[in-house]
Order: sequence, then structure tokens, then C-alpha cells
Amino acid sequence: MASLSPILKQATPVVVDHALGSWIYGTDGKEYLDFTTGIGVTSTGHCHPHVVEAARAQVGSIIHAQYTTVMHRPLLQLTEKLGEVLPAGLDSVFYANSGSEAVEATIRLARMATGRPNIIAFHGGFHGRTVAAASLTTAGSKFRSGYSPLMGGVHFSPFPDAIRYGWTEAEAVAFALQELDLILQTVSHVDDTAALIIEPALGDGGYLPAPLAFLQGLRERADRHGILLILDEVQAGVGRTGKFWGHQWAGITPDIMTFAKGIASGFPISGIVAPTSIMSKAWPGSQGGTYGGNAVAAAAAVATLEVIERERLVENAARRGTQLTQRLQGMKAASTHIADVRGFGLMVGVEFTDVDNTPRPDLAAAIQQRAIDERLLLLTCGTRGNVLRIIPPLNVSADEIDLGLAALERTFAAVLPEFATAPVPA
Ligand code: PMP
Repeated sequence: MASLSPILKQATPVVVDHALGSWIYGTDGKEYLDFTTGIGVTSTGHCHPHVVEAARAQVGSIIHAQYTTVMHRPLLQLTEKLGEVLPAGLDSVFYANSGSEAVEATIRLARMATGRPNIIAFHGGFHGRTVAAASLTTAGSKFRSGYSPLMGGVHFSPFPDAIRYGWTEAEAVAFALQELDLILQTVSHVDDTAALIIEPALGDGGYLPAPLAFLQGLRERADRHGILLILDEVQAGVGRTGKFWGHQWAGITPDIMTFAKGIASGFPISGIVAPTSIMSKAWPGSQGGTYGGNAVAAAAAVATLEVIERERLVENAARRGTQLTQRLQGMKAASTHIADVRGFGLMVGVEFTDVDNTPRPDLAAAIQQRAIDERLLLLTCGTRGNVLRIIPPLNVSADEIDLGLAALERTFAAVLPEFATAPVPA
């Protein structure tokens, strides 16, 4: 008898019977408010009728129209529709299946386009589990250890994590940019450096937005040295942060960008975008893949983009995110263990430490587990595992956010010692 790999960890014991919108219905007969969205994937909620209909219709016409053999309409439609929301100048798209694959494609492109070997990534970043993507990943040693030797030519520079350093954001940014300059002077000469790669907000590394001044500093250095700036929007993209792309908060434009997760509401499709002038420097035939740009996934992606536009979900993400963080800030003010509430839009992190800044991954884990009893599904993240991550669908309602917050208040009251006697502030 076969069973699932024993090393595959599952954050909850829930077995899904079916799901709709913000809700998962378990085979245990219970309903759960899903603030995990399959790690930021089900952007339009579970089984949005428009997405379901588009996928159903596509399954009946063609499922797999392999895109280096024949072209199919959904991919052409998706490329046109994406063109309406892509950053200015990033007009050429390559499709793959997963975030890791997209990241790999950016590295291949950056090296080919510049003829330079090195990539600089940032501490706490998560870019995937395949070798090149894992080589760029420092969100936790579990993604790297036992897997060496990883890809060469990767160097790491500090991420301005003000909370961890115990500094102001401005101090952390100045330090991180200064260290990057030093790396370019002493470790990876600019003429050897193809690209900088960064997430708009650390995702698995802690739901920590990159300070805008930091992203602007990276853009300035990339321009100055002819280095490409890669924004990994796999988790922060597609409306999640209250702007269509997370980096847009900083008013910068990347040279290459990834997307995946939220683009197709749960169907596996990812991609990279770049100006044609950069994309055309990739060697002919160097991009491809058996399953990339699958027709059903592409049809679901078109439908997802239509829903996001029609239902004004980017605006909803911004509004509901503010609703969520405002009440969480009130809880933080009354807590000795909530060190930080942060995020933009519906990409929200709550960090737990002792008053002396010692990380408390045990509290984040206990809250995540206890919330399941309150029928609220959450995840944890962070380089030190002490961050609760809250990722509702982009079309979550105000009432559902309130329900989630009430469940969280009951959970905090059960887990955090400071709320055992005093009530959690509403
Ligand atoms: N980049 C980022 C920013 C991610 O958040 C992830 C997934 N968490 C990946 C890449 C890898 O994506 P996948 O798991 O689809 O390979």
C-alpha cells in the first residue's frame, strides 16, 4: 500500500471536501475560514464561478496544446490581457508552471542577456526549491541543507530587517545598501554581476515588505552598473498588496519580473516578463517546457484577470488589508509578545518575540494550531519561524475579515499569557 511521503509536512489536519470563496468545507463536516489561500494562490477565492466556467469550457475544447508545437487561443488572450496590467516596457512574456521554474528562467535570461555570471540575492528571500531557486533562497536552512552543492555564482547581501536588527527602518536601509556596495566592490565585481533578485516583501522569509527606499536604492545601483533588477512577484503579485504588483509601491520598474500563484486562482501557471530588448538576448530555444502555458490554466488566468478587474479586487485588497491591520495593531498595543504587525494589502504578518526581542516561534506555531479549533486556517513563516501569516482571498468581505479577527482574538486569549487575565482589545 502506498502512502504520502512522511517528510511532507501539513500545517492542518483538514481534508477538504469542497471549497467556495473564503471557505473550506472539511470531510469532518466543519467549515473553515481560509486565510491561507493555498499559500496566496486562490486570489479570487475558491472556485469562483467565472473561473470555474472558463476552465470547464476549456477542458471541453482542448486541454494540452503544447506551446512549442502549436499555439492556443487562451495563451494569446492571456498575453493580451496581461499587457493591460504589466509594468511599462515589460512587454514580452514567457510562461512556465511554477514559481521556481519562473525564477530559474529569470536567472537563465539575466546571465544570457548580460553575459555575466553572478546573481546577488537578499537574506531571508524565498525563491523556490529547485536547485537554482534554492541557491537564491535563505528563508531557512531547511530549503538548502543536505542539497549541496547548490548553484555557484550566488552572493547574498543583507535585507533591511529593522525589527531583527533593533534599528529604525532608515538605519536598516542605509546599512543594507552600504553592505551591497561593499559586496559589489569586494566580492562580486559589477562586471561579473548579472542581476539583483528580490521579493517586494519577504514571503516565506517573514511577510516583511522591502522598504521603498531600499527598492529605490537597488534600482539606482542596477542602473548605475548595468545590472538587471529582478523582482520576484510570485507571492506579492496580482493584487495581493493592494497594488497590482508589489514593487509598484516603490515607484520603480524592474528589468525582469516573475508571476505565478494568484494569476490563475489555483491552476498551475507562472511566467516571467521583460522588455523584448532583454528577452530577445536569450539564446534561441533556451525557453520552453512540456506543460508551460497549459490551455486550461491560461483560460483560468484570463478569467481571474477579468474577475480582478470587474470586481475591483486590487482596491478591495487594500481596503480589507487596512481593516485587518488596524485591529491587529490594537491587539499589538496590549500585547507583550506581538512585536510587529505589518504588511500591505492582504499580505499581513504578525511577529512574536519576548520584550527583549527573542523570537518566539513556539507562540506563532501555537496560535496557528489553536486557530484551527476556532475554524480559522492560517500559516506561519519567517526566517526564525516566529511570524503568523494571514493571506485571505482578494475578494474577502468585510464581514469575513471581522469573523477572522474575532477568531484570532479568541486564539490570542487562549495562547498569549498577557491576555489570560485582560481581554483582547476589540
Ligand atoms: N518565489 C516566491 C516569492 C515564492 O513565494 C515562491 C513560493 N512560495 C516561489 C518563488 C516558488 O514557487 P513554487 O512553489 O510554485 O515553485
